Amino acid sequence: MVTPTVGVLALQGAFAAHAAILDRLGVTTIEVRTEQQLASVDALVIPGGESTTMSMLLERSGLLEPLRARVAGGLAVFGTCAGLILLASEIRDGRHDQHALGALDMTVTRNAYGRQIDSFESDLDIVGFDTPFHAVFIRAPVVERVGESVEVLARVGERPVLCRQGAITVASFHPELSDDDRIHRRWLADAGL
Ligand code: GLN
Repeated sequence: MVTPTVGVLALQGAFAAHAAILDRLGVTTIEVRTEQQLASVDALVIPGGESTTMSMLLERSGLLEPLRARVAGGLAVFGTCAGLILLASEIRDGRHDQHALGALDMTVTRNAYGRQIDSFESDLDIVGFDTPFHAVFIRAPVVERVGESVEVLARVGERPVLCRQGAITVASFHPELSDDDRIHRRWLADAGL
């Protein structure tokens, strides 16, 4: 059997730390910057960074439409922070020309935890995990609304911060910065990898 390959979108942002975790978990990982590379992956991580910049780079690199097509075709995707923003169906406080891939039925507002607490850490109780997950939030988006198809796996207060829809998982925080690979492992299992 051919070993599955997991891509990490590497146009901008925190892609290297994701690749390091995936390598440790023993999956074949490639950095994705071209349409050919995207076509070769069985699953994709969209990392944190700056969603407006990533959206622009997706357009410039010619990856936007191929990525939309793969997502529409059921590609397993793990989006963190800016990645969550890109995967949502509606983005508030984005740039007017910022693209939403609409992979999940979700409305998000960028940078909405407020300037005072721009970045913070929180021990999350996550559905299905025995012990809390120490989560790092950096200029995180707020998930304002999720549709019925979206399962909420963790919240901070009332706000969803980890959600899943089939083989798509999104986190408003940076799981690749915690020395804890449980969320990556669960996503790979959901993706059948
Ligand atoms: N604030 C960023 C954005 O709007 C996301 C921050 C992050 O990915 N750490 O894209």
